[in-house]
Amino acid sequence: MIPAVVVTCMDYRIQSLVMDILHKYNLKVGDYDLIAIKGGAGNFQQLQSHLEVSKSLHDPQLVILTIHSDCGAGASIEDFNEALNITKDIFHEKIPIQTEFIQLH
Ligand SMILES: [Zn+2]
Repeated sequence: MIPAVVVTCMDYRIQSLVMDILHKYNLKVGDYDLIAIKGGAGNFQQLQSHLEVSKSLHDPQLVILTIHSDCGAGASIEDFNEALNITKDIFHEKIPIQTEFIQLH
């Protein structure tokens, strides 16, 4: 098992779509740290804080950043740029960092 870390918004409307993403990356329960915060990867302060703890505790080898449409916390797809900068600063581009935009219908 390769530990991963997944960042998602707390919004219940995206939960099943997040599960689909976990399945796509073949991540099973117990394989990943799950960071569920308002705004997901668009919540830069919390993103940094949580990723730093995940790295120090579990040294994940894959990062999945998600942001969803119609986010009540104000996150948008443009936030991936800064989220990637923050994540690369922490992991030094040594591991794959995936971005997934979740489109609500
Ligand atoms: Zn949201």
